[in-house]
Amino acid sequence: MRLVLLGPPGVGKGTQASNIVKKYNIPHISTGDIFRANIKEGTELGLTAKEYMDKGLLVPDEIVVSIVKDRLTKDDCKEGFLLDGFPRTVEQAKALDNELIKMGIKLDKVVNIEADEDVLIERATGRRICKECGSTYHIKNNPPKVEGKCDLDGGILYQRDDDKVETVATRIQVYLDQTQPLIKYYTDKGLILNIDGVRSIEDIFETIVNSLENK
Ligand SMILES: [Zn+2]
Repeated sequence: MRLVLLGPPGVGKGTQASNIVKKYNIPHISTGDIFRANIKEGTELGLTAKEYMDKGLLVPDEIVVSIVKDRLTKDDCKEGFLLDGFPRTVEQAKALDNELIKMGIKLDKVVNIEADEDVLIERATGRRICKECGSTYHIKNNPPKVEGKCDLDGGILYQRDDDKVETVATRIQVYLDQTQPLIKYYTDKGLILNIDGVRSIEDIFETIVNSLENK
């Protein structure tokens, strides 16, 4: 199973990624992880990527694509892979297609987990964290027994800056702007599998598996 996984921040993509790779026994390929591994091993690609990252610049497509290509030729990718965080743009998707053609393989599906912006904002902005033990709550979906206090140790619950409404809205908007053309590109190729992400983790996973297996 050769897959790409797409989904806005806060949709639960990480959880579904681990479920999918476990189910199909394929490696989870996240560009962030590959970058970190290459930098740690001090490979030429890693060093080049690091130069850009240290300057706060985006790593150019050419380098990202080489790094991913290199990863896809490893033995554990023979039966498939799940790409997460790549491609991010149509240019990267086209470059990936070219590499896959050279390797004589193609993508099976692009799993696109969807949710309305309002839902994602509500999910993220309702999150509260215990100052003492780091337990996570949600004011609506998983509230503490006493408002503002941790069930375990009575610690004060706070909201991370990352979960403030403006930050969340911006993050989602950036994702949508960037990904819309990519989704269209894969839709035109007949590869998109749109999955409703506003349900339980189990329901979402079941739908993904059934859709992949055409049940
Ligand atoms: Zn606590």
